[in-house]
Amino acid sequence: MHEMSIAMNILEIAEQNASDSGSSVINSIEVEIGTLAGIELSSLSFCFETARKSTRLAQSAKLEIISIAAVGKCADCNVDAEADFYHALCPECGQPVAVKGGRDLRVKSINVD
Ligand SMILES: [Zn+2]
Repeated sequence: MHEMSIAMNILEIAEQNASDSGSSVINSIEVEIGTLAGIELSSLSFCFETARKSTRLAQSAKLEIISIAAVGKCADCNVDAEADFYHALCPECGQPVAVKGGRDLRVKSINVD
């Protein structure tokens, strides 16, 4: 499952980070996920809860998801158009604009003890 490998990847990054800093418990992991990253958030949360059981430091870690919207800019009007799917329309002239960002997943911060 796609989301399972993502969850394991997040936990791996967090555990590496925590052990590098000499921490023994991971309390929470904050991740930024673009709305166009193709990740099912409820599925990711579910997978995370399953995957954390096989970790050493993240047994009770919480996953905090920050959703990052993709943004498009109209070349003619120089206006930003927020896009929640692959195509956005300019709010001024209504023509399709190129959508940037919103495709990434990033571990933003890790809260440890
Ligand atoms: Zn426009």
